Amino acid sequence: MEQEVKVTILGTAQDAGIPQAGCSCERCLNAHNHLNLRKYPVSIGIEGIDGSKHLIEITKNLSEQLKIWSGDEKRDEVYLPDTVTITHLHLGHIEGIGQFGKPVMNLENLPVYLSSENKLILEERNDIQLMIKEENIKLISQRYNKEFQPKNDCGFTLELIPIPHRSELGNTAAIRIKGTRKTLLFLPDQDSWDKTLDSFSMNSIRELLIFRGVDIAWIDGTFWNLEELPGRELSEIPHPTIEESLHLLGRKHTGDPEISFIHLNHSNPANDIDSEERKMIESYGWGLCKRKDIVSL
Ligand SMILES: [Zn+2]
Ligand SMILES: [Zn+2]
Ligand SMILES: [Zn+2]
Repeated sequence: MEQEVKVTILGTAQDAGIPQAGCSCERCLNAHNHLNLRKYPVSIGIEGIDGSKHLIEITKNLSEQLKIWSGDEKRDEVYLPDTVTITHLHLGHIEGIGQFGKPVMNLENLPVYLSSENKLILEERNDIQLMIKEENIKLISQRYNKEFQPKNDCGFTLELIPIPHRSELGNTAAIRIKGTRKTLLFLPDQDSWDKTLDSFSMNSIRELLIFRGVDIAWIDGTFWNLEELPGRELSEIPHPTIEESLHLLGRKHTGDPEISFIHLNHSNPANDIDSEERKMIESYGWGLCKRKDIVSL
C-alpha cells in the first residue's frame, strides 16, 4: 500500500481555548466541570510518508496535543515534532513556544517555519533569542506562495498563502498542504471573505478553492453571528461569521471540496453538540472540525 500523509486535528478552538480564562459564561463553566467539553486552541499535526512529524501552530495546550497526536493506541508514546510551522503571531498560535526551551522540552534546533516579516518580529523577543542561542529552535523564513518540504522525503509540501487579517503583529498565512493524493487548506484566521477573495482577485470561495486545487478546507469559524457579540458592528468584527460563510457557500454540490469550520470562539453556539447551529452547518453539507479526526492526503 502506498504510504499516506496523515493529518490529525489537535485543537479546534479560537486562541483562548474553552474554557477561556476568567470567563463565567455557561459554556466555559460547563467546560470547567466536564473535561470532555474542553477545547484546545487550533492546531494540526502532519505525519509524513517517512514517519516524520510536523506540527502546525504552538498552543498553550502543546502537552495534551502532542499526546492526542500519538493516538489512543500508543499508550507508551508521546510524539515529538520534527518541525513546526506557524500561520501568524497572535497569542494562541504561538503561546506554547517557550515549552521548546530549557525549562521544559529542551529540544535541539527544532526548525520553526514562518514568514520573513514574522521571523523578524519574533526574533526581537528576549526569550526567543535565548532559545535560539541555546540551540533549542531555529527560525526559518519561508516566502509566500512558494511550496517547500519541511523535511526531505516527508512526501508533502507546505505553502504559506498571505491572508488579510489584523496585521498589528506581523502578517498572516493560510497553509496549503499538498500530499501525495489530496490538498488541504488550513485557514484558521481571516478578516473577511471580501478582503481575502479580493486579494486573490477571485469572485467566490469555491472559485478560490478550486483554483488552488483544494480538496479539503478547514476555515475560520470563530463566530456564529453578531448576536453573540452584542453592541458590536459587523464592520469591526475581524472574522467572517459562520452564517455569512454559509450564505456565501450555499449548499454543497457534488464535486465541491470538503469544507469544515475550525477556530471556534467560546461564544459560538455551534460548539454545542446538539445545537441547531451545528445541524444547520451539516444540513448545508459542510462540517465542523473535531479533535482527533484524521484525514489522509
Ligand atoms: Zn487565532
Ligand atoms: Zn466563555
Ligand atoms: Zn489571529
